Amino acid sequence: MSPWDFANKQLKDLVPYEPGKPIEEVARERGMNPSDIIKLASNENPLGPSPKALSAMTEACKEAHIYPDGGAFKLRAALAKKFSLEMNQIIIGAGSNEILEFIGHAFLQPGDNIIAAKHAFVVYKLVATLFGATAIEVDDPGYTHDLEAMAAAITPRTKVIFIANPNNPTGTLVDQAKIDAFMAKVPENVVVVFDEAYYEFLDNPPDTLKYIREGRNVLVLRTFSKIQGLAALRVGYGMGPVELVNVVQRTRQPFNVNSIALAAALAGLEDEEHQAKTKELTDEGREYLQGQFSALGLEFVPSFANFVLVKTGNGAGVFAQMMDKGVIIRPMGGYRLPDWVRISIGTMTENRKCIEVLKAVLGR
Ligand SMILES: *Cc1c(COP(=O)(O)O)cnc(C)c1O
Repeated sequence: MSPWDFANKQLKDLVPYEPGKPIEEVARERGMNPSDIIKLASNENPLGPSPKALSAMTEACKEAHIYPDGGAFKLRAALAKKFSLEMNQIIIGAGSNEILEFIGHAFLQPGDNIIAAKHAFVVYKLVATLFGATAIEVDDPGYTHDLEAMAAAITPRTKVIFIANPNNPTGTLVDQAKIDAFMAKVPENVVVVFDEAYYEFLDNPPDTLKYIREGRNVLVLRTFSKIQGLAALRVGYGMGPVELVNVVQRTRQPFNVNSIALAAALAGLEDEEHQAKTKELTDEGREYLQGQFSALGLEFVPSFANFVLVKTGNGAGVFAQMMDKGVIIRPMGGYRLPDWVRISIGTMTENRKCIEVLKAVLGR
């Protein structure tokens, strides 16, 4: 007898998440030197963590024998202050991905559905499947969430609507007016999740925290993995009205985030200079990459985040050939975009190397 015969049956439908390929793995497989490889595949911060976060984590290591503060008091207090919320309106996760899973635990059962855009972050569908729910995937013309169509897709079994803003992997943004019109149509018994992993890269970010202040059933998710450069530590947070956060807190394990990550996140949050430097580098890199794609006659989706979706044709092939030349990017077959790749913005040296290798691979 196979364990599949008695395992939860929805697990058979679960397509595992395909992460960006690690540098070490590419080096091992191809007999290359890791220092000759650059990774522009997972929207990481090319400047690394804030120096303040680095020293905070070194300090926290000395207390590694003590269980972490399960309530994450200091980090929640700092976030509450920063966003003018109450501490009990904030939940900390091992990456905002863990909070996406909490949402599944809290709200989803077989027969329920979630709504997401067709080319939205794939984890929403993954979480829905994990809990036996279905994902209603709504067309996204121009690779942008169509909030009107998403509101129209709500059924009596809809529990959660996920809006990635900016979206990954498309880099597109929906603006305040569209969000406001959408929120006017969403019934009270549907939770709206604004996944704002790239919020800090925006010049004019829409305000979704106002819905929390109004007591709407809204969760706003952000992360320390992107602009903060702490992806390896796994820290993210969710903000929502007290009662909603209470419900989600019930699903959390007591020590879900480790103390080294908590200390680094707290120090990183206060390092505004590192974040500003990262944003500036990202803006410069985005302009450069998009300009190069235009010059090469490649279609791309103008991005609001720290990556660009570009149509190279044969994404899997371009990915493999660029990897041979030491540049790891992300193929998009898993997103049903087989002719596209997603390129994260690196340092200017990395961006130039990426373009040089892309030109060689495309024979331009
Ligand atoms: C990167 C990303 C996340 C979260 O990453 P964590 O490392 O789990 O915090 C969430 N949503 C989107 C859309 C992302 O791109």
